[in-house]
Amino acid sequence: MQLRIPGPTPCPEEVLSSLSRQMINHRGEEFAELIWNLTERLKNIFMTKGDVFILTSSGTGAMEASIVNTLSPGDRVLALSNGFFGERFSGVASAFGAEVLKLDFEWGKAIEPEKVRDVLKKERDVKAVLVVHNETSTGLTNPLKEIARVVREYDRLLLVDAISSLSCIELPMDEWGCDVVFTGSQKGFMVPPGLSFIAINERGWEAYKKAKMPKFYWDLGKAKSFLEKGQTPWTPSIPIFFALDVALRLIEKEGLRNIFERHKRVADKVREGIKELGLSLFPDERYASNTITAVRSPDGLDTRELLKILREEYDVVLAGGQDRLSGKIFRIGHLGKVSEADMDEVLRAIGSALSKMRR
Ligand SMILES: *Cc1c(COP(=O)(O)O)cnc(C)c1O
Repeated sequence: MQLRIPGPTPCPEEVLSSLSRQMINHRGEEFAELIWNLTERLKNIFMTKGDVFILTSSGTGAMEASIVNTLSPGDRVLALSNGFFGERFSGVASAFGAEVLKLDFEWGKAIEPEKVRDVLKKERDVKAVLVVHNETSTGLTNPLKEIARVVREYDRLLLVDAISSLSCIELPMDEWGCDVVFTGSQKGFMVPPGLSFIAINERGWEAYKKAKMPKFYWDLGKAKSFLEKGQTPWTPSIPIFFALDVALRLIEKEGLRNIFERHKRVADKVREGIKELGLSLFPDERYASNTITAVRSPDGLDTRELLKILREEYDVVLAGGQDRLSGKIFRIGHLGKVSEADMDEVLRAIGSALSKMRR
């Protein structure tokens, strides 16, 4: 089977077998050794000297944590949005009482750093900027390095959703000056759903001290004091910790640079293959993502029917479009455990499903 949606992604055999281990005491020494070890190794992936915490939740839990740990109700935040997940990030900030200033870009077009500068220049009281690094809904990678440079120029807090990019697409958080960055286990990490990872730097902790949004489960101050004892405040998803240990070993063995390169090679192959099939990419190609390819639905062709044929007759599972893109695009996930050979198979299946439909 080719499960090629933008998460959950396929897990390597070694990762799957680690899931059948017996539980351990999450307040005991073995777990303490494990969480300290995993936390240090995750810092290498975030490329940070700041703090990293492993939360038991999907990625959206970490998204909420980034907001409630750094902001107070009434704080003004600038939410950059060019897709479904940009909308979600903005929505979380509103739900907790932030005064959200939206800067919208067309779905499929990149966020423009210059426009961010124009807003920050005028709006002196904007405290934080929210951005999605890799917009999974449109298959587009925003120019985060340039956006971060603008945010640093105006010295605001920068919160980054890196759920579908971290570990696959370069994001050196300290070097670029991002303050809080979060991701989830089930996308680039080749681990089942169940954990999220969040990194926070000194500026993030300064904001934490003043942040008054309600929080309990997501309180990173609590996570920090428990981590000192080698624990989490609440019962962690122990099996996914085991799985992460194995997956990080695979990631370390291959090397981050090589992983970034592999994702680029695989994505180039997918983009070429899609064009050869006579289809076109949805996003601005200059910003096309190396982890997800969004393809415009061919004229007059029912995407739902295409995905159904692929699933039932070729054992290839792809994703449709979300929200306003439903029926307009389909998406191929190529992140984590993925090779060029996998994509050859997927492209061949799409090709023959299309000719079957056109017959
Ligand atoms: C998958 C994804 C999310 C949501 O993560 P969940 O684990 O489903 O909560 C948020 N943002 C982006 C960019 C994603 O790709």
